[in-house]
Amino acid sequence: MGLLKHKSRSLARVQRRTVSGKTVTHYRARKNDYMKCGICKSNLLSVTNSSSVSKSSKRPSRIFGGHLCHGCTRTIISQASKIKAGTIKINDVDILLQPYVKTIAKV
Ligand SMILES: [Zn+2]
Repeated sequence: MGLLKHKSRSLARVQRRTVSGKTVTHYRARKNDYMKCGICKSNLLSVTNSSSVSKSSKRPSRIFGGHLCHGCTRTIISQASKIKAGTIKINDVDILLQPYVKTIAKV
């Protein structure tokens, strides 16, 4: 550690092994990036991890809010209702969507 600026946790710590075999700590800037949808990997724009806002303001309060985008959520709800109605089977659903559809349709 040593330097006062390294006592703060604003920089990420990375352990690196040097040529001589010693392990040293490197300090680098944290990556700030958008949270991504779990299926299509698009940016979730209304999701933040800021500590100054309340939990309900950090992500949408709908089902899969903060994990999936609105388009993928719409597809999943549609597929789940078709399974409940008996129009399609769970095996007809895309393999990426199946775990989410199962939580709604209780298959
Ligand atoms: Zn998506």
